[in-house]
Amino acid sequence: MKIIIYLTIAIFLLFGSLSYSQSQWEQIRTEHFIVYFYTDNQEFAESVSVAAEEYYDTVAVELGYVRYSNFWKWDKRVKIYIYPDHNAYLLASHQQSWSHGMANYTQKYIMSYVWGHDFLDRLLVHEITHLIFRDFVGFKGEVPLWLDEGIAQWGEKNARVLRTDMVKKLAISKRLLSLDAMMQIDVRSVQNDNKVKVTGLYEDRKNRLILQLRGDELVNTYYLQAFSLVSFLMNRFGAEDFIVFSRQLRDGKTITEALQFAYPTQIRSIDQLEGKWREHILTQD
Ligand SMILES: [Zn+2]
Repeated sequence: MKIIIYLTIAIFLLFGSLSYSQSQWEQIRTEHFIVYFYTDNQEFAESVSVAAEEYYDTVAVELGYVRYSNFWKWDKRVKIYIYPDHNAYLLASHQQSWSHGMANYTQKYIMSYVWGHDFLDRLLVHEITHLIFRDFVGFKGEVPLWLDEGIAQWGEKNARVLRTDMVKKLAISKRLLSLDAMMQIDVRSVQNDNKVKVTGLYEDRKNRLILQLRGDELVNTYYLQAFSLVSFLMNRFGAEDFIVFSRQLRDGKTITEALQFAYPTQIRSIDQLEGKWREHILTQD
């Protein structure tokens, strides 16, 4: 019986998504992207196609990905699906109701809907950075969530100053998480009203603070720190070493092993990374 129900759902989903994909989609092709959209949304789709190419250029240059850029051309262009509204997007993507956009790394597409500047200024470059980073670092194995989300937020150039300020405030009020906590917590399973105890980032490993955070505070802090940690590594040591470090983690190495491999003379332990990162946060203007 269950099998029949699943089959019915599967057939419904298949035909549901086919009817979307075959009927009203129009497209704009650029060098690295194909933007799919509905007739009424031509103007928005044009803005998306222009912004996507600009973001591609800046992110690829900053990450040092340029010489590999043929990967995204011709039949390997990234597809961007722009649904007419939030509901249509949710139906097609099967995401949670708070989701406004998503990227699929392996099949190289981005899905969202017509929703103005927040998409053009923030989410589009966030998702493009995810895709470029994963393409560059490779797909076998997993990278820690903080690394993946850190680099994607770092791609949102417009928000760098704001995020840097927010992290500094957290550091001053001694509310930053330790790196161990960032490696251990799966923020995707944290509920807003959970109360969570985590170790904080403070002076040294012997003088750890224990922080008591609400679920939503923990998630916000985690994301801000993810951004901050990636910014620190990129600014201080450059993109090339950062990619080497990321590939080590992807291959399942511990943070210490990855640090010693990528930054053999500069950072040899988690303690050193935390110390230098904390100092960097506090001394930034
Ligand atoms: Zn993301």
